[in-house]
Amino acid sequence: MTSAGRFAPSPSGELHVGNLRTAILAWLFARSTGRRFLLRVEDLDRARTGAEAVQLRDLSAIGVTWDGDIVRQTDRGPLYDQAIARLAEAGLTYECFCTRREIQEAASAPHAPQGAYPGTCRNLDPAELEFKRSLRPSALRLRAGVAAFTVNDVLHGQFTGVVDDFVLRRNDGVVAYNLAVVVDDAEQGIDQVVRGDDLLPSTPRQAYLASLLDIPIPEYAHVPLVVNRDGARLAKRDGAVTLTDLAQAGASAEAVRDRLLASLGLPAGTLDHALEAFDPAHLPREPWVWPGIAQPEP
Ligand code: GLU
Repeated sequence: MTSAGRFAPSPSGELHVGNLRTAILAWLFARSTGRRFLLRVEDLDRARTGAEAVQLRDLSAIGVTWDGDIVRQTDRGPLYDQAIARLAEAGLTYECFCTRREIQEAASAPHAPQGAYPGTCRNLDPAELEFKRSLRPSALRLRAGVAAFTVNDVLHGQFTGVVDDFVLRRNDGVVAYNLAVVVDDAEQGIDQVVRGDDLLPSTPRQAYLASLLDIPIPEYAHVPLVVNRDGARLAKRDGAVTLTDLAQAGASAEAVRDRLLASLGLPAGTLDHALEAFDPAHLPREPWVWPGIAQPEP
């Protein structure tokens, strides 16, 4: 299978300029390295009717093109089940009955590694297990053999982060993002993962899981987010941030595309044109404050 990059939006609503900028970057990274570019709809959770169609329309409107068929996670249950079965057979999973609150309380203990599951259900004896099963449905966790893992990132260099006994399948039966993303990227032949740097902290967990499943670890590039004037991640409440809102304010998709390209130090015009000037070494490393569309570029 030829190598590929991807964009993997969650169809929870309209894409905003931050998502569109990440999509442009993922496209540029893939195309500039001769990779295919795939689109995966991460609809296991938070999917909203109609959102996918609008997201695809908006990606096309700013010139992001993709190869082959779109993949949807809800069509891929058996793949996730196989991976989980493989981990279970290797003794690398266990049932967890903790509520969110119990985890928060235990995780705030003085010596708990930050953000890590404290292992409460790791070694339940058969009687405890039976009792807990009678009380509530269980989630499935990974029995991690390490506490940290290091990944290489094109923009961040070496990054070491916590690996805990993270959830593989939630107690409502839904497969967890960290499992699905690893299985999907491998199955789709994706060997380059470009996404927002809010996901960098989860990446050591994913790379470690890939290593357990004998999956090659992809190249990572975690790109800076777009933020509002307060420095917080851009959200719908920050005003006109989707192509629909911006069109109402008089800005065409092309104008938005050009504004996003300018924020990356790239020339206006088609993405093919921007590709000629694209060099990851010259990308801004800081979050970009969305200036709105009415104001002139500072
Ligand atoms: N679906 C995730 C999101 O929209 C992206 C996951 C990924 O790129 O790995 O935030």
